[in-house]
Amino acid sequence: MDYDVLILGGGIIGCAVAYELSKYNINIALIEKGYDVANDISFANTAVVYDGSESYSSQMALLEKRGINIIRKHCKKFNVRYNKIGSLRFFLDESSGALDNMYSNSKEHGIDGVRIIENDELYNMEPRLNIKANKAIYSENTAIISPYNLAVSYAEIAVDNGVNFRLEEEVIDIKTISKGFRVTTNKNKFTCKLVINTIPNESFNDMCNTVASEMKNKKMKCIIVRKSINDNLNKIVIEDIEDGNSMITVPISENENLIGVKFNNNLSSKLELPENILKNIKRESIVNIFTEVYSENDMLIDDSNLEEGYIKIIGNHYAKISIAPAIAQDIENKVKISMNVTKKKDYIDRKRETYIFREMTKDQINRIISLDKRYGNIICNCNNISEGEIIDSIRRPLGARTVEGVKRRTGIGLGNCNGSSCNIKIIKILAREMNKSVLNIVDDSMDSQILVGRIKEFNEI
Ligand SMILES: Cc1cc2nc3c(=O)[nH]c(=O)nc-3n(C[C@H](O)[C@H](O)[C@H](O)COP(=O)(O)OP(=O)(O)OC[C@H]3O[C@@H](n4cnc5c(N)ncnc54)[C@H](O)[C@@H]3O)c2cc1C
Repeated sequence: MDYDVLILGGGIIGCAVAYELSKYNINIALIEKGYDVANDISFANTAVVYDGSESYSSQMALLEKRGINIIRKHCKKFNVRYNKIGSLRFFLDESSGALDNMYSNSKEHGIDGVRIIENDELYNMEPRLNIKANKAIYSENTAIISPYNLAVSYAEIAVDNGVNFRLEEEVIDIKTISKGFRVTTNKNKFTCKLVINTIPNESFNDMCNTVASEMKNKKMKCIIVRKSINDNLNKIVIEDIEDGNSMITVPISENENLIGVKFNNNLSSKLELPENILKNIKRESIVNIFTEVYSENDMLIDDSNLEEGYIKIIGNHYAKISIAPAIAQDIENKVKISMNVTKKKDYIDRKRETYIFREMTKDQINRIISLDKRYGNIICNCNNISEGEIIDSIRRPLGARTVEGVKRRTGIGLGNCNGSSCNIKIIKILAREMNKSVLNIVDDSMDSQILVGRIKEFNEI
């Protein structure tokens, strides 16, 4: 067998599974079709860690409750920002009983730190609230993280502990063979004893179609608008409107909010519903708009074929980031039992250090520059990011290989100039580090070439 375990898909779930399994003496590879991990939905989302208090499903509530505790610990261990800011949940129709219902569910699920708050206390807590309401559910637990940073941390530690990340390989087929599987990608064929398929809605045939086809996909779309306002909110604010439509406002930084509108049908009619929030957004303050589609199924680890060596993660859920680490630990337990694995003696549960200039004192910065002059060469003037930080992001285990990969790992290009002054510098550094022509450097995927050709044939650009 080429591998003991093959993990399919390098989103937050695949990376978390790779991290949990990398502590064992087994030969593991993860296959991801993108140039980077967490390049899909695990990057484009509202970045909220839910605590289960909002969930109507007991199974999901309990997974979220476990997940938030694991994420808090992991963020501390990996030095990933974890901002516990709390959330307020409103219901447009306060007489419907939905608020009391949700509150009693959270009590039933044993979720502490959740209460109903009313009138004065509500507006004292959130003085700039733009919703007229008498009461809300307040959860002190809800937090904001960077799901991308968390997924990359999982992946880096997994790589350091021997997991082989096969990027740019698309799984096209899985077949059973004697005592295992043959997984075919667009580049290779691999055999393995166990497949863990984390790819949502995959297009190839797999063993679990029976269970998957029974799941009803309730499609929803979401638009996310980032706006810059002076009167920023303190808390994550969620307003349930009707029929599962809702509006979420997430204060992602001191002067920026990320606003998501979830709706069932067409966008324009439903946008009128949350108009009370959207009306204050000026066109020029919108930095980014995108839509994503997802279904609201409960998550399920389908281990009905575990004896043959096949596990599949089924379902998409609005809180999949929050529950990813709990799902990964459940899979770890299943693998432990089914493969009878032993722990590595030399396992390193630590992420390699990074130097983030904007978080360092002058003395610390000077010390690093004295060791490596490239840390003294500032590439991004908006966010004060040095050449040394960019090179580190490329040379790390599973380092950046695209312009977006560098931006997401370092924060370069996310300042006021939106990358206009540093994009070309990132391209040149990537080309130099990867020993490629600048013409072959891509933004984030195979078909996202940035420079299409030279206008003058200089030897260097
Ligand atoms: C708009 C939106 C907002 C959200 N907000 C939140 C939130 O605030 N909090 C929260 O907890 N959750 C949130 N979620 C849910 C969460 O972001 C996603 O469900 C989660 O990131 C999915 O992770 P994943 O690993 O299952 O899938 P993905 O991130 O989609 O990863 C799957 C990977 O498989 C790869 N792949 C696909 N096909 C193949 C193939 N054939 N071969 C090899 N690789 C393949 C893809 O390239 C991808 O990298 C949100 C979701 C959406 C859509």
